[in-house]
Amino acid sequence: MALAGAGHRLGPVTPTTLGLTTLDSFESLGLVEPLLRAVAAEKYETMTPIQARAIPPLLEKRDVLACAQTGTGKTAAFLLPIIDHLARNPARGKPPIRALVLTPTRELAAQIGDNFEAYTRFLDLRHRVIYGGVNQKPQVAALRRGIDVLIATPGRLLDLHGQGHIDFGHVNFFVLDEADRMLDMGFIRDIRKVLALLPKRRQNLLFSATMPNSIVKLASSFLYKPVRVEVDPQSSTVERITQQVMFVEKPNKKRLLVHLLEDPTIESAIVFTRTKHGANRVVKQLTKAGIEAAAIHGNKSQSARTKALAGFKNGSIRILAATDIASRGIDVDGISHVINYDLPNISESYVHRIGRTGRAGRDGVAIAFCDEGETAYLQDIEKLTDAPLTVVIDHEWHYPEAMPKPGVSYKAPKQQQPNRGPRKPSSQSKSGGGKQGEGDGSTPRRKKRRRRRRPAPKS
Ligand code: AMP
Repeated sequence: MALAGAGHRLGPVTPTTLGLTTLDSFESLGLVEPLLRAVAAEKYETMTPIQARAIPPLLEKRDVLACAQTGTGKTAAFLLPIIDHLARNPARGKPPIRALVLTPTRELAAQIGDNFEAYTRFLDLRHRVIYGGVNQKPQVAALRRGIDVLIATPGRLLDLHGQGHIDFGHVNFFVLDEADRMLDMGFIRDIRKVLALLPKRRQNLLFSATMPNSIVKLASSFLYKPVRVEVDPQSSTVERITQQVMFVEKPNKKRLLVHLLEDPTIESAIVFTRTKHGANRVVKQLTKAGIEAAAIHGNKSQSARTKALAGFKNGSIRILAATDIASRGIDVDGISHVINYDLPNISESYVHRIGRTGRAGRDGVAIAFCDEGETAYLQDIEKLTDAPLTVVIDHEWHYPEAMPKPGVSYKAPKQQQPNRGPRKPSSQSKSGGGKQGEGDGSTPRRKKRRRRRRPAPKS
């Protein structure tokens, strides 16, 4: 899938003529020829801004701290320099793992694996994607045969290392992808464990969509004098996306959704819900109304997720209901609509969600449903994006009570912070969305709380 030149989030880098190549051409990087051929086969003509800024320092063996979202071409930004190095320094005999890419979710790991395969199609390099929730045997077999690049989610990686199947002794590239999401999902301890297992001398890359203090702190713990690259500030939303909001009473959201999706001009849409149950409910309601849909979230089996995603990609499934974490990194061009069935309580998630549409140079529409309890979330989003959403009142279920009153600042209901110690069972069931554990099916691991046994009654 290629980004059209004009489709880059910040627009293409201004080409500066330099002989036959331009400063933003891949040729100007001096990458090995089979890699350039693979990039050309992918129909990438010029570098995206993140590539133009991150690849040169990476080729100079510098550590890089990059702030970039999915859709900006970040995967090629870190894979191309790694592949170039490996191609120039081929392993003799059974290859040892020389690059490790750590990602939060199985989907993202699989996508990085697909990209790696595409970029190395003319090279003899081996990779393996490793994540939990599936049989480990084929993964172990691949590790035994030897691989150059390992792309993994933290839980299964540590499990396999614990079982003695992984030797980190030759890793000289370490990539932490979607670091902010990793922390949100509670992977910090696993990340630190992995870092402690790696050789001291290595090149480090950290990619994150946002740069909160926690990421800056983590970065400073393992990056050495990093070059900082930023291409898509969190607060900027994609200009090609028409952003609308519809005010609706909570119980009427399902009717409004069915009504909207009966419109055949909605070619394909992702409906975002805050919780996994919410995503299931949406699918049920749509199916009842005769609209085919599938859900994708952390409670679904890996095969169900893969099937739903494949159906969505090939167009046989028009509607996908998703939670934030499961959708992260879904790279499908041509999604015409994003519907925020529930407004996200973290306003950055709104930016990620709507970024699923408007890709590859196409226009997109993002529609937010806002009920009476979500007014504060809407205000937060508009504060972050610095642009009011277009209000659509022309629908049967318009509910003016959910509209923010001018001059009033609404307070969001207190949210449970993820990963600040064990949650109380009651709040866990309330939050439902379950950030924890959506990642790779096996982590993060927590100590089971022991139940105290009641002493047996004395007889
Ligand atoms: P990513 O941000 O890595 O998820 O990439 C988003 C999409 O952009 C993927 O479909 C890539 O294949 C595509 N892409 C990456 N680099 C380029 C480029 N230089 N030109 C065109 N498309 C690209």
